[in-house]
Amino acid sequence: MPAIAKARPVVGAADPATPVSAFHKFTVVLLILIPLGATLFSMYAAWRWTNYFSAKDLALFGAFYLMSSIGITVGFHRMLTHAAFDAPPFIRGILLIFAMFALQGSPLSWAAAHIKHHAYSDKPDDPHSPLVSLFHAHVGWLFASRVSKPKYAKRQMRDPVVMFVTKTCGWWALLGIVLPFLIGGWTGLLWGAGVRIFFVHHVTWGVNSICHTFGSRPFRTGERSTNNLAVGILGMGEGWHNNHHAFQRSAFHGLRWYEVDASGYFIRLLSTVGLASKVYSVPRELMAARRQEGAGDRMSRTT
Ligand SMILES: [Zn+2]
Ligand SMILES: [Zn+2]
Repeated sequence: MPAIAKARPVVGAADPATPVSAFHKFTVVLLILIPLGATLFSMYAAWRWTNYFSAKDLALFGAFYLMSSIGITVGFHRMLTHAAFDAPPFIRGILLIFAMFALQGSPLSWAAAHIKHHAYSDKPDDPHSPLVSLFHAHVGWLFASRVSKPKYAKRQMRDPVVMFVTKTCGWWALLGIVLPFLIGGWTGLLWGAGVRIFFVHHVTWGVNSICHTFGSRPFRTGERSTNNLAVGILGMGEGWHNNHHAFQRSAFHGLRWYEVDASGYFIRLLSTVGLASKVYSVPRELMAARRQEGAGDRMSRTT
């Protein structure tokens, strides 16, 4: 694929995107370095001092990791971006607010960037292809141009719940930091916000970098997306990224019994209790038709 191999982190004629400001870049640097610093400090503190943190701090880490991850995977990704299912406004609102705890931008900016990723996967206009570099796909793309929301997130802009959370997004992001502090004090802040945000960030970004580089490709998709077990588990099912590129609307990214997909199980639970409707799943015949001949699930480095 020579054309793909020459991909560059530029925005071409496909997108009237605007360059990001120096302030935006500074904010991104802080959003990367502060959670990293918190994680390194917590490792040092755990080694240096006994009883520095408690079971309550770990519970805060777990609870806020689950809330923010489910918010991103079920809320921002499967519901908002791909319309894999529908839900009452209060459930949609809660999922989008939980996603704001992950500090990954507003619902509209997240959806616009991801829709553009699917439109130009591993081509020059892809916002985060690892064919530019693994670093670019992971965090470097956050310093590149903004993606046009009216162009890529037009449908989402018609949803009043999405617009409400987008307009108030800063407050929800702050809430995801303040709550762990109010519940657990300084160590609660360290684990429930700092360390937790570090993990949520890098697992999500790992879908863009690792899951377009390392793993298997059971389906023909025309780009470099892969299935990766580690990201599948840590990322609540998002690591079955080749499956996802093959069937973008599917509410379930794990398509076989052993492809662990916590987000898919959560959507099934919502549906069972009547809080999700129009849940889209892929017909078996379609799955069989798209499966690559002899692809299996072998692991490979694919660049
Ligand atoms: Zn992808
Ligand atoms: Zn997607």
